[in-house]
Amino acid sequence: MNVTINDSCIGCGACESICDAVFHVEDKAVVTKANVAGNEDCVQEAANACPVSAIEVE
Ligand code: SF4
Repeated sequence: MNVTINDSCIGCGACESICDAVFHVEDKAVVTKANVAGNEDCVQEAANACPVSAIEVE
């Protein structure tokens, strides 16, 4: 699973609250790629919850 954040991110923090092992938000969300394996379910949940569809999952 490849996870990226696109330029739409508004830094709302929702992804970090849902999946804090993978997402960290300061101005914008940052992905800790090393932690994606094993956290796919919450990554997908965060992608679905992002209000601006900024989390791209492949
Ligand atoms: S939920 Fe979406 S808009 Fe909010 S911080 Fe995460 S990536 Fe950015």
